[in-house]
Amino acid sequence: MTLGIAVIGTGRMGADHVRRIDSVISGARVAAVADLDAERAKAVASGIERCSAHTDPAAAMAAPGVGAVLIASSGPAHEAALLEAFARGLPVLCEKPLTPDPAGALRVLEAEQRLGRRLVQVGFMRRYDAEYQELQRTLEHGELGRPLMLHCRHRNAASPSFFTTEMLIRDSVVHEVDATRWLLGQEITAVQVLRPRPSSHAPQGLGDPQLVLFETSGGAVVDVEIFVNCGFGYEVRCEAVCERGTASIGGSGGLRTRSAGRAGRDIPQDFTIRFADAYDREVQAWVDATRQGRVEGASTWDGYAAAVVCEAGVRAQETGERVRVQLAERPALYA
Ligand code: NAD
Repeated sequence: MTLGIAVIGTGRMGADHVRRIDSVISGARVAAVADLDAERAKAVASGIERCSAHTDPAAAMAAPGVGAVLIASSGPAHEAALLEAFARGLPVLCEKPLTPDPAGALRVLEAEQRLGRRLVQVGFMRRYDAEYQELQRTLEHGELGRPLMLHCRHRNAASPSFFTTEMLIRDSVVHEVDATRWLLGQEITAVQVLRPRPSSHAPQGLGDPQLVLFETSGGAVVDVEIFVNCGFGYEVRCEAVCERGTASIGGSGGLRTRSAGRAGRDIPQDFTIRFADAYDREVQAWVDATRQGRVEGASTWDGYAAAVVCEAGVRAQETGERVRVQLAERPALYA
């Protein structure tokens, strides 16, 4: 049976996921969309057969043929949509963040536990990127020994006009938060943020770049350079330093050219290009798992942990202090 999906939020990510479900992946169709902006929802639905457009997420979830929900609305709208999907017993792929705040994430965590089964996959798509998967397998197999450090770089060509200093952590470094927990299989226990004098290319008032440091439960240290106005393109790198060697991703792929006395390669200009395959694989894996009655990928617990770490990160940004991460006890459902 083809899985009918209600897509909540038809902005940049939502519209891209609708395109992906409609024309890239198999086993699913977009049965309904919802957006507060009625015109946007209608425009997205108009290109798709048997797809209804709504302004109310609950109405989209109640539309005929809907068997699962993809939430791609703005972060503050996620909690209400998640609870609505829970009330209907619908499996969910929720774009990151699960919720922007730890309190909201905890409420979602408690609501899912009351259901007694997992319904949510959080959209941390790096877990579906081929290079990240190879690095994760290498670390898990242990051939390089125990990981001691991760050196991460996360660079964007330019930040959008609405980007704030807090968003460097909550919107960007949140991906390194999840990648660190997943690659190392450890929790992040403390965060520090060092702030160099901002780049003269950063918009007025934006503290860009920053160096974010994590300590983990297994004694590793992780540094993340976040630089959202680097000017030259989108670049995500990670080097794991282990007891018997190193492994790195993100620096060498892509087409190489030699011309006019120079050798080089193209640098993708944004995440939709760099992680295009990861988004496709993420949504396909979610559809496949949902049709088989399974849930995989980042869980509600992972979304909750990311929210708590980001909250600590923002406090570290503001105070310049080392901030400890205090997680609730991990429920058995997420063992
Ligand atoms: P966007 O602003 O382009 O789109 C958000 C849409 O949600 C808008 O059309 C808005 O009208 C709609 N919306 C807001 N509240 C709503 C509500 N209550 N009900 C229905 N619709 C509502 O933003 P975006 O860039 O598409 O981001 C959407 C989500 O995707 C965010 O959670 C963001 O963090 C996430 N995101 C993830 C990645 C990734 O790499 N995984 C990248 C970008 C964005």
